[in-house]
Amino acid sequence: MANIPKSYQPIPGDELPRFAGIATFMRLPHIAATEADEVDIGLIGVPWDGGTTNRAGARHGPRQIRDLSTMARNAHHATGITPFELCNCADLGDTPVNPVDIEDTLKRVEDFYAQVVKQGIVPLTAGGDHLITLPIMRALCRDGPVGMVHFDAHTDTLDRYFGESKYTHGTPFRRAIEEGLLDPERTVQIGIRGALYSSSDKDWGLEQGIRVIEIEEYNELGINAVIAEARRVVGDAKAYVSFDVDALDPVYAPGTGTPEIGGITTYDAQRMLRGLRGLNLIGGDVVEVSPPFDPSGNTALVAVTMMFEILCLLAEIIDQRRA
Ligand code: MN
Ligand code: MN
Repeated sequence: MANIPKSYQPIPGDELPRFAGIATFMRLPHIAATEADEVDIGLIGVPWDGGTTNRAGARHGPRQIRDLSTMARNAHHATGITPFELCNCADLGDTPVNPVDIEDTLKRVEDFYAQVVKQGIVPLTAGGDHLITLPIMRALCRDGPVGMVHFDAHTDTLDRYFGESKYTHGTPFRRAIEEGLLDPERTVQIGIRGALYSSSDKDWGLEQGIRVIEIEEYNELGINAVIAEARRVVGDAKAYVSFDVDALDPVYAPGTGTPEIGGITTYDAQRMLRGLRGLNLIGGDVVEVSPPFDPSGNTALVAVTMMFEILCLLAEIIDQRRA
């Protein structure tokens, strides 16, 4: 077990009550990315929803997720993983964004993550809409394409919107595959459903070799078989986890821009994330929380709980790589 300085521990709830103090991700120290050389896992917000095609609001996600993350605690009740004892974790703040310019934002976010990657920090991100995964991958996957476990109601592999717009939250993984950041044959998409713009929307991803597990097949297979299939597709090489909260049924996560009924339960999502233990993960994100549609705060609580699941996976694999 790593020797973690006390300064990297979350503020204990019995020293400062959970409702008090300045909200950081999981009550961790807030450290500037440029001064985070000792950090193993950086929790990062990307307050951006300029890729959203319908109901916006995910730009407010990081702030509300930080607030609800004060509910997080230290030890995973089912796996026993204690991420803050395995790794130095910190809140690296929000990336720069330009709320009125998509391409400038893509550059700003990529530059921020390039600095994070340069320092050997594994990023765990709170969005933001799903377009943010593209600039993260541009920084993270410069050595060649990675695999991905992608939870979503949507494939996000469409080509263009409104004629020539290449960059929206419906297109990041098309661009990531075109740019050689993502290996389609090592990509699995879980929970896909909802009406399409056209019956041909599915074709491109399938032609590239993406393993698409639509919700009907997911229910037919059952959780354990879906986990086994995800592990088979991704294999042992580097992989990323991307969790769009609209993969979940809107009864659990209504606060999102593009809800689709008939989705995954929160408990099954937790079980699937636990099923990814030991995969060679290099980062992860939880995206599409839209606080204006989340008056109870429950969607943000769901998001931070999924972030904690992913944090446990990252901390365990980083600790194993060191051993
Ligand atoms: Mn998505
Ligand atoms: Mn989606």
